[in-house]
Amino acid sequence: MGDRAAVKALFLDRDGVINVDHGYVSRVEDFEFVPGILDFIKTAQKKGYLPIVVTNQSGIGRGYYSCEDFEKLTDHMLEKMREAGIEIERSQVFFCPHDPDEGCACRKPMPGMFLEAAEKFGIDMKNSIMIGDKPSDIEAAKRAGVGRTFLVEKNQGVGELKL
Ligand SMILES: [Mg+2]
Ligand SMILES: [Zn+2]
Repeated sequence: MGDRAAVKALFLDRDGVINVDHGYVSRVEDFEFVPGILDFIKTAQKKGYLPIVVTNQSGIGRGYYSCEDFEKLTDHMLEKMREAGIEIERSQVFFCPHDPDEGCACRKPMPGMFLEAAEKFGIDMKNSIMIGDKPSDIEAAKRAGVGRTFLVEKNQGVGELKL
């Protein structure tokens, strides 16, 4: 047995999975949850999964919106999630603010955000799940050792996906 209890995570991409991806969503008024996703996360949490958001936000690096805009939108998202009965803290949201040209280690398909989360929460990656809408989401998760990955269609929800 390890020193700490194994935590299994439900890793979620944001744009296209949690909220409808209209392209560089940065304002509260443009933030719209994908149908069914809140119930899905809530159910996953009941089954013992820790929700973790891992999102590329190159709109910051490209100068389309600021870190502050992102944080404001994150506060809004978390508030709505909590209203829906999901227990989630700001520390469970990881984002990459970099422009792709920066070649950072956190922009998916690089696994940086997953590894940071694993370290922070002591996540059992093999028993964790990733849901993304782009091949780069899945690639990043696999590089980080996430056991199960699901590529869903952008903005369409998770359908009949059972954990
Ligand atoms: Mg996406
Ligand atoms: Zn980055």
